[in-house]
Amino acid sequence: MKLLLFFMVVLFLGVGFILGDFFGLVISTIFSFSLYKYYLMISKWKNLPTLDDYLYENKSNQLKKGITCIKCSSNSIKNWGINSVNDTKRSHICNHCGTILYRSGN
Ligand SMILES: [Zn+2]
Repeated sequence: MKLLLFFMVVLFLGVGFILGDFFGLVISTIFSFSLYKYYLMISKWKNLPTLDDYLYENKSNQLKKGITCIKCSSNSIKNWGINSVNDTKRSHICNHCGTILYRSGN
């Protein structure tokens, strides 16, 4: 994945140079950075535990009131799409302390 990303960035920068004008170079640079930023976001999301893993690793946090935060024990958890509101890749974040707890979606 990292190699593919590298080649895509080189390709876009190369297209910018081949176009030869400043505007093409700026557009290709912005697109390359956007692609890299998206890749970092996906990598970070994939490193989060799934709900099953989170519950397994934090058995003491499974209270009768539901899933709780590992740091502050709050049971107020919001889920956010990592790229947009309707993104199927979701991060579940504690409303009280802001800790990112687990991921869901695909
Ligand atoms: Zn918390």
